[in-house]
Amino acid sequence: QTLEKQSVKLKDVSTKYERDKRFWIASINELKRKIETMKEEHSQLSKKAHECADSIPELNKMILAVQALVAQCEDLKLKFSKEQAMRKKLHNQIEEAKGNIRVFCRCRPLSKVEASNGHATVVDFSAAKDGDIGILTGSSTKKTFKFDRVYTPKDDQVDVFADASPMVTSVLDGYNVCIFAYGQTGTGKTFTMEGTDKNRGVNYRTLEQLFKIVEERKETSTYSIFVSVLEVYNEQIRDLLATAPTTKRLEIRQASEGFHHVPGLVEAKVENTKEVWDVLQVGNNARAVGSNNVNEHSSRSHCMLCIMVRANNLITGECTKSKLWLVDLAGSERLARTEVQGERLKEAQNINRSLSALGDVISALATKSSHIPYRNSKLTHLLQDSLGGDSKTLMFVQISPSEQDSGETLSSLNFASRVRGVELGPAKKQ
Ligand code: ADP
Ligand code: MG
Repeated sequence: QTLEKQSVKLKDVSTKYERDKRFWIASINELKRKIETMKEEHSQLSKKAHECADSIPELNKMILAVQALVAQCEDLKLKFSKEQAMRKKLHNQIEEAKGNIRVFCRCRPLSKVEASNGHATVVDFSAAKDGDIGILTGSSTKKTFKFDRVYTPKDDQVDVFADASPMVTSVLDGYNVCIFAYGQTGTGKTFTMEGTDKNRGVNYRTLEQLFKIVEERKETSTYSIFVSVLEVYNEQIRDLLATAPTTKRLEIRQASEGFHHVPGLVEAKVENTKEVWDVLQVGNNARAVGSNNVNEHSSRSHCMLCIMVRANNLITGECTKSKLWLVDLAGSERLARTEVQGERLKEAQNINRSLSALGDVISALATKSSHIPYRNSKLTHLLQDSLGGDSKTLMFVQISPSEQDSGETLSSLNFASRVRGVELGPAKKQ
C-alpha cells in the first residue's frame, strides 16, 4: 500500500516535472531570443558609437572653422567701420578744404527779348575757369569778383550739379547742408533750383543722387528720407504740402535733441525719384493757390525744400539724422522808395530784412563770431541747423548778363563776396 501511494506520488511529481520542464524550456528559449536581439542592438549601437567617434574630430574641425569665420567676420566689421570712418573723414576733409561756405556764380543767357532789343552783355568770362568774373562798369572800367566757381550761360544743369553733388553726399554721412539761390528776379534762381521738366535742377538731382547712393549702400545701411516743402512770405510760414488749409500759425520750435522743426508741417516720406517729382509738383501747385500772379508771388517769397535723412548703419549700429535745405530765395532787387506803398512796401521790407539777416548770419559764421543772429528772420531761424557748426553751405549767386541789370548784378555780387570773401580773406580785396 505504501508502495502504491509512493507510486502515485511519483506519477504526480513526474507529471508536474513534465509540465514545469516545458515551461522552463519555453522561458529559456524566450530569454535566449531576447539575448540575441540585445546582442544585435548592442552591435548596432557600438557600430554607431564607432561612427560617432570617427566624426568627433571632424566636428571639432568644423567648430574651429566656424570660430575662425566669426573672428574673421568681427575683424572685417572692424575694418569696415574703420574704412567707412576713413572714407567719411577723407570725403569731408576734401569738402572742408574747399570751405564750409562756398559761393558759385551763375549767369543766365541773354534772353531773346534782350537780344532783339540790342542789350549788350556786360559780363567778362575770360577767367571764369579760375572763378573770376568781371563786370564792365564803363567803356574801360571793370570790376572783378572771385568765387569758388563761375558758370557761363553755356554751362548746363549737369555741369552745375556736378560741383554741388559732393555736398549732397555729406548729408548721408550725417552732415547738415544748405544750398540756396540768391539774386534779382529773372536771373535763373528757379531755373537752377527747380529747373524745368526737361532741364531738371538741383532739387530733383539732389534727391535722385540720394536715392542712388542709398541703393549702393543698401548692404550696410538703411535710410529713410522725408521731404517738406514750405514758403516764407511776409515772415509767415506756409506749408505747401498741407492737404487742408489751416488757420493755425506755423512756428519754429527747438526739439530736445537740438533740431529745429515746425510742428504740424507735413513731412512726406519718399522712396523713389518718381515720388519726389510728384511731391515737388504738389508743392509747386500749392504756391500758385491764392495769388493772381504766380511768378510775381514766387519772386516775393522764399521757397524752401527740406530733406530729412535718418540713417541706420547695419554694421556699426550707428544712427544719424541730418537735414538738407534747398532754398529758392525771394528776388533781391531793391525797389525805388517812390515806387512802393502799402502791401508792396511791407513785402519789400520783409524780403530786405530776411536777405540781410541771411548775409549777417553767414558773415558772422565766416568771421567765427561768438553770436550768430539766427533769430532775426524766419528764414535764418529755419535754416539754423544747416548754417554753421560743421554744416556745409552753398550759395548760388545768380546774375543777368544784360547791361540793363548791371546795377543789380553788382549789388548781388557784392552781397555774395561778403558771404564768401570774409572767410577767405584776400579774395575780397579784388
Ligand atoms: P528767377 O527764379 O531768378 O526769377 P527764373 O529761373 O524764373 O528766374 O529764370 C528766368 C528765365 O530765364 C526763365 O525763363 C528761365 O527758363 C530762363 N533761364 C534762367 N537761367 C537759365 C539758363 N542758365 N539757361 C537757360 N535759360 C535760363
Ligand atoms: Mg523764381
